[in-house]
Amino acid sequence: MAHTDPLHYLKDELRALEAKGVRVHPPVLEGEQLPVAVFNGRRVINLGSNNYLGLTTHPRLRAAAEAAVRTLGTGSGAVRTITGTMRGHVELEAAIARFKGAEAAVVFQSGFTANAGTVSAVLGREDFIISDELNHASIIDGARLSRAAIKVFPHRDTQAAEKILAELAPQPGKKLLITDGVFSMDGDIAPLPELCALAEKYGAIMMVDDAHASGVLGRNGRGTVDHFGLHGRVQIQVGTLSKAVGALGGYVCGAAHLIEYLRLRGRPFLFSTSHPPAVTAACQAAFEVLEQEPERITRLWANTRRFQSGLRAAGFDLGRTETPITPIMIGDGRKTMEFSRALFEAGVLVTGIAFPTVPEGKARLRAIVTATHAPADLDEAVATIARVGKRDGII
Ligand SMILES: *Cc1c(COP(=O)(O)O)cnc(C)c1O
Repeated sequence: MAHTDPLHYLKDELRALEAKGVRVHPPVLEGEQLPVAVFNGRRVINLGSNNYLGLTTHPRLRAAAEAAVRTLGTGSGAVRTITGTMRGHVELEAAIARFKGAEAAVVFQSGFTANAGTVSAVLGREDFIISDELNHASIIDGARLSRAAIKVFPHRDTQAAEKILAELAPQPGKKLLITDGVFSMDGDIAPLPELCALAEKYGAIMMVDDAHASGVLGRNGRGTVDHFGLHGRVQIQVGTLSKAVGALGGYVCGAAHLIEYLRLRGRPFLFSTSHPPAVTAACQAAFEVLEQEPERITRLWANTRRFQSGLRAAGFDLGRTETPITPIMIGDGRKTMEFSRALFEAGVLVTGIAFPTVPEGKARLRAIVTATHAPADLDEAVATIARVGKRDGII
């Protein structure tokens, strides 16, 4: 007897995405994640990575990872709470806490699990999370897992956040005020000083997700708390090891009692195997590089200014970016994906971002500048984006 496929509805969903022009296939990188790299067999200027400082191929990270593989093998073999806590995990966490000036730090498998695992561990059903509408999906998932009530405020609207906090004041539940430090699709920076003041006024916990600020903002890339001088006023700081740090992972830092609690109740920490030694070794080397090679961050920002002023002069709308994340606002999803494809053909990889990653009608290209792009590559990219944009009626 012929069976009907119970998943057949997914084919309809795929056709619907196809009809919208957003059934996209990620480009396949051949070789290393470099500023000029080969994707799908084509050599392009690569404006698609979060490898802000070029650390994924840094000789010191590579050497540390190689040595760890040689001496310690390829896997940790267990979750952290059983036998998967290796010396490298402990040393990396101490290094992160020192770097961030925090009492303690805990490392998770990714920034995603750091956020989701932390929010779901520190809040419960009777609590409230007050969240910027553009916060990362991992924060939303953590909030859902916690079963706390989610109250969303319009992007960077501190008055709206205060209104929510004031309304919730009579409620006995805990309140967590949470924001991305740098917003991943727009490149703007959270109004963290104002949010800290609100958290203090209303007795809320302040949490910041510094995925795109780690290694980018603050002294030696210490993040938004350092950028704004808000030391001691943000109780939960999340960072990623997957972007500027050049490897993989996420971390949380804060008070010793927060970190110990996360080691006991953070579900990804308890139920998912810890990093292999090569990853922790590479991360340890990365924090040394952040301290010793601040010129990488200087170059990142110089490159950012060069690239963004070139695009603005060509007539592109870069939204409200304040960081190396460079949105090129288009609006229509299909048009955005077509522009991205045309640029790829012309030798520039810039990712098209459409619904559901950003709201309908707010599709855009997103270019990310790195420290390792040569100025000439950035100038060529600007010229190509402008030429193709004019040809295709974008500007
Ligand atoms: C990338 C990102 C994460 C997830 O970090 P990974 O280490 O890649 O899992 C979390 N939050 C924000 C804002 C991000 O941009």
